[in-house]
Amino acid sequence: MNPQFKKIIENELESIKEKGLFKEERILGSKQGRKIKVGAKSYLNFCSNNYLGLAGDKKLIQAGKRALEKWGFGLSSVRFICGTQEIHKELERKVARFMGYQDAILYGSCYDANLALFQAIATDQDAIISDQLNHASLIDGVRLTKAERFIYNHADMRDLEEKLKAAQKKRLRLIVTDGVFSMEGDIAPMKEICDLAEKYDALVVMDDSHATGFMGKTGRGTHEFSGVGQRVDFITSTFGKALGGASGGFIVSTKENIEFLRQRSRNYIFSNSLPPVIAGVNSFVIGQIIKNSAPRKQLWENTRYFRKKMQEAGFQISPQEHPIVPIMLGDAKIAKNMAAELFKEEIYVVAFAYPVVPEGKARIRVQISAEHTRKDLDKAVKAFVKTKKELISN
Ligand SMILES: *Cc1c(COP(=O)(O)O)cnc(C)c1O
Repeated sequence: MNPQFKKIIENELESIKEKGLFKEERILGSKQGRKIKVGAKSYLNFCSNNYLGLAGDKKLIQAGKRALEKWGFGLSSVRFICGTQEIHKELERKVARFMGYQDAILYGSCYDANLALFQAIATDQDAIISDQLNHASLIDGVRLTKAERFIYNHADMRDLEEKLKAAQKKRLRLIVTDGVFSMEGDIAPMKEICDLAEKYDALVVMDDSHATGFMGKTGRGTHEFSGVGQRVDFITSTFGKALGGASGGFIVSTKENIEFLRQRSRNYIFSNSLPPVIAGVNSFVIGQIIKNSAPRKQLWENTRYFRKKMQEAGFQISPQEHPIVPIMLGDAKIAKNMAAELFKEEIYVVAFAYPVVPEGKARIRVQISAEHTRKDLDKAVKAFVKTKKELISN
C-alpha cells in the first residue's frame, strides 16, 4: 500500500479511538426482534428502530417468499430501462395513498431519497434553510446543490423566520426538517413551520423516517400528528425502520413533482430498482398497518408505560411522547458504563455522547417496540434502577 496513505489511515483510526468514538459492532446470531442473540446469550433489545415489531414477523417472511417466487431475485436494471414491475407501481400507489399524497417515488433508501431530492429541485438561485439537528442524509443532500445554505437553531421558529427574511430575494426557499429528531425523540413544530412557509413563500421538506407508520391518529406520520396534512410539499421517509425494517426509501408529493423527480433525480435514474422481494414485502406491510392498528396501539401503550415508570424511578427523560426515550445522564463516562452494566443484565441499549449529542448531554437512548411485553419493560426499568444505584452512589 502507498506508505503515505497507510500512515494517514493509521493516524485517523488512532485518533478515532483516542477520542472514544470508535464504533464496535455487536454481531447478532438471530433475527431482529425484542429478543436477540449475541454470542451465547439472549438480550432484550431496546435499541432498534423496529417500532412496530415487524422486522422478524412470520407474515412478512411469507410475503417475501411469495414475492421472491413470483418476481424473482433481481432486476439487473434501473427503473426506466426494464426495472419497473407491477409490484413497484403497486407499492408507489399504496404509499402515496397511505401518506395522503397524489404520488410516490421509490429509492434504494431514504438516504438515497434525500441525496436525490435537493439536487433535482434546487439551483444556485435558491435558498435551503435547514434545522441544525437534521439527519446526516439531509445535510449531504443539501451539500449536493449549489443553493445558498442557511442553518436555523434547532426548532427555533424565530431564527427560522430571520433566515426566511434573509432569503427573500432568492427564486425559491426550501425549509428542511426531520419530522422527529432521532437523538431527542422530539417532534418538529410542523404547524409553525408551515405557517412561516406560507408567510414567506417557501416550500417545506420533511424527512419522517422516525414517524412513518406510527405517529398521528392513524400512523401516517408527523404531518398527521401535527394536523398539517398536505401543507408539507415533499415528505421523504424509509421502509427501514417501523415498516418492516429492511430497506427502501420514498418521497411523496404532488403528481407533477413526482413526475419531475422521475425525470431528474440522479439516484433514481442511475441506480438499480428496489429488489422485487423488498418491494413486495414493503407493499404487504403498508396493507398490514392499515388493516391492523393493534401493533401501533401497543407501541404507544408500551411507550407511555415505560416513560411513566422511568420518571417515577427518578430518571430524567425528554418530555415529548415518542418511542425514542433518551435517558439523560450528562456525563459521558456514566452513560457508557451504565450501558455496559445494563448489557450484563441482558438489556441491550446504547449510550450516546459528544459529538453525536452536545457536550455534557450524554444519554442512553432507549427505543420501545410494540413487541415488548409488560414484563420486558419492567425488567428494563428494574435494571436501570439497579445500575444507577451502583454507578451514581449519593
Ligand atoms: C434512518 C434515517 C434515514 C436513513 O434511512 P435509510 O432508509 O436507512 O437510508 C434518513 N433520515 C432519517 C431522519 C433517518 O432517521
